Amino acid sequence: MKSPFYHEAILQSCTLNHLTVDDIYACVREKFPKAGFSTIYRNVEELAEKGLLHKISGIGSKALFERRIDGHVAHFIDQKTGKVYDLPLPESLILERLPPGFSPESVDIRIYGSAA
Ligand SMILES: [Zn+2]
Repeated sequence: MKSPFYHEAILQSCTLNHLTVDDIYACVREKFPKAGFSTIYRNVEELAEKGLLHKISGIGSKALFERRIDGHVAHFIDQKTGKVYDLPLPESLILERLPPGFSPESVDIRIYGSAA
């Protein structure tokens, strides 16, 4: 079974945040030159579905993926450069401010503007 093998390789490659599948594929190919793009693409999507990678869609033309080892849920997007910055805002800070009875499934906060 190849999937778990590539899952581990992808997670080890994703040490930086905000990677496209192209970036991840390039990292995995350094160790596993025979890996195919469509296989890596499928594996990355599977990891996102399992919650082991977080998918950030709708910023540029390609979705970004990250592991969020620090638990951040907020990003600042520089609209001039397209660069994405992590904001050290923990999920718990947001969730504790929700009114009683609200049941969030995920938290994804985006602030748009220009970075210094
Ligand atoms: Zn991030």
